[in-house]
Formats: sequence, structure tokens, C-alpha cells
Amino acid sequence: LMQLFRPLDLLGMVYRTIRQGLVDMAAMFDLIDTPAEIVDIPGAPALDSALPSVEFQNVDFGYDPDRQILHGLSFKVEPGQTLAIVGPSGAGKSTIARLLFRFYDPQGGRILIGGQDIARVTQGSLRAALGIVPQDTVLFNDTIGYNIGYGREGANQDEIVRAAHGAAIGTFIESLPKGYDTEVGERGLKLSGGEKQRVAIARTLLKNPPLTIFDEATSALDSATEAEILDTLGSLAQGRTTLVIAHRLSTVTHADTIIVLDRGRVAEQGSHRELLRKGGLYAAMWQRQALEREKEEAQTI
Ligand code: ATP
Repeated sequence: LMQLFRPLDLLGMVYRTIRQGLVDMAAMFDLIDTPAEIVDIPGAPALDSALPSVEFQNVDFGYDPDRQILHGLSFKVEPGQTLAIVGPSGAGKSTIARLLFRFYDPQGGRILIGGQDIARVTQGSLRAALGIVPQDTVLFNDTIGYNIGYGREGANQDEIVRAAHGAAIGTFIESLPKGYDTEVGERGLKLSGGEKQRVAIARTLLKNPPLTIFDEATSALDSATEAEILDTLGSLAQGRTTLVIAHRLSTVTHADTIIVLDRGRVAEQGSHRELLRKGGLYAAMWQRQALEREKEEAQTI
């Protein structure tokens, strides 16, 4: 009987390896796949990617024709500024990021980067100008150095180390016995949500795009990790135009402008102070999250 078990066990292992490969591919596809209908217009110029502004002008969008998600959405981020997008789950926050990457085209209105309509420039130049720190970072079953270096082809070790320190993960990596050669993933080092997000920040620092989108992790981070990520987010936003898709309001207090998205429309817009003074939707969300925070803190004591 044992003779029969061994091949079965081996088969199980092969199956698990293949399945993991497929899961990784699916996750990657989410990031890089483009529906077939999105094509460059003939003779499209490249995006002129100096420090750009970003503008949504009356954007209508739905994934399906019978369900509109964004309704005449308009907002503008000035060059080098940080815009935070907050709002209830399902309001359309991540959809804004997908449209900026041009994974889909809006059914109405225009999206401009540096005054150029993104539907009229090459997709290659658009994607090169954009960096994203996604909610869930895909890590390859390879070394941590490789996982950071993936941000820019041909990056050398010095640049990888500098990016790791810029993302506040360098000291941690250097404390590991194998340093940047430490294997991560399935059979190697398991990174926490906060650490994975810092790997993504390091990748983006290496890529050095003029426009970045930070899609904050929905998973709860402890307050120390959250404070560290906020710090590194500050260094990421330095000298770039930045959009932060936020789930916790504590992440957005320093943004130049905050928009509160509600069912695909801008319900409120202003700085943290302005919105608190207004006493509307944002102020109510702030109070609710402050209460939750107090409860959590009381539980951890
Ligand atoms: P959360 O805070 O929960 O991440 P969100 O504000 O980022 O939410 P989106 O992910 O932008 O919300 O989704 C907006 C709406 O679009 C949701 O109702 C969602 O179900 C729908 N949606 C998202 N992706 C797709 C898709 N690929 N196909 C069809 N509908 C989708």
C-alpha cells in the first residue's frame, strides 16, 4: 500500500505547485491584463510625463451597460499634489485607479494627465508614467532583492538597497542572515501585510514614476505599522503627483485635497480641516472611525 501512497503524495505536491502558479498568474493578470478592445489610436503620441496634473472631466463609467458606477465624475489634482479618495465600500474608488491605467475606457467624459487625454496617447507611455502600490502585492517565489528589483529592469544592487531604505524595509532585510538573497513566498520568508506593502513602495521608488497611486490595504494594520507606512507614503509622494485610495481616514489627514466619493459622485471636497468644519459626511466618517479606534485600543490594553 505504501508503494501506492508515495506517487499519490508526489502527485498532490505537483498539483499544489501548479495551482499556486495559476493563482500567481491570475493575480498578475489582474494588474497587467488589458481587455482586447483597448488599443492605441494610429499614430498616438507618447504621454509627456513631466510632473503632471490629473483631471477627471465628467466621467461616466460602468463595467456592465446596465449598471453605471461613476456618474459624471469630475476632480482635479494639481502637479505634485496629493489627492485622497475616501468613501464607503463599493463607491468606485478602485475603479478610478483602473481607469487611470486605462484597463477600461469611460463611456462618457475624459481623463487627462498633464492635459493630455489618456485615450489618445500610447498605453506603453501611460503605464510607464504610472506607479501603483496595490492593496495586495504579488510576491514572486524568489529572493527579496529580486522582488524589489522587479520595479525597474536592470536596477543594480545599490539602487535596490536605496529603494529598500526609502521604503523603510532595508534595515529589516539586512538583519536577515541572507539579507537581500533571502527567499520569500511559499517555501521562504513570509512577509506581513505591512512588509509586503513596503516591498511595493520600494518597487515604485525604483521605477520612479511622476504619478503614483497608493491603494491602501484594507486589512487591519497595527497602529505602529500604520504610522510607518504613512511615513514612507510621505517619501513616496515627495516630488510626485499622488492619488491615495484610502480606507482609513487617518491616512489622509495630510492630503492637499480629499474627495468623498458616494455612489460614483463627489459628495464633498476639501482639506481635512475644511471637511471637519463642514460637519457633513466626512465629519461623520471621522467620528465613527475615531470611536472604533478607541474601542480597539481599549481592547488591546
Ligand atoms: P472598496 O472600498 O470595497 O475597495 P471601492 O470604492 O474601491 O470599494 P470599486 O472596487 O471601485 O469600489 O467598485 C465599485 C463597484 O463596481 C462595486 O459595486 C463593484 O461590485 C463593481 N465592480 C468592481 N469591479 C468590477 C468588475 N470587474 N466587473 C463588474 N463590476 C465590478
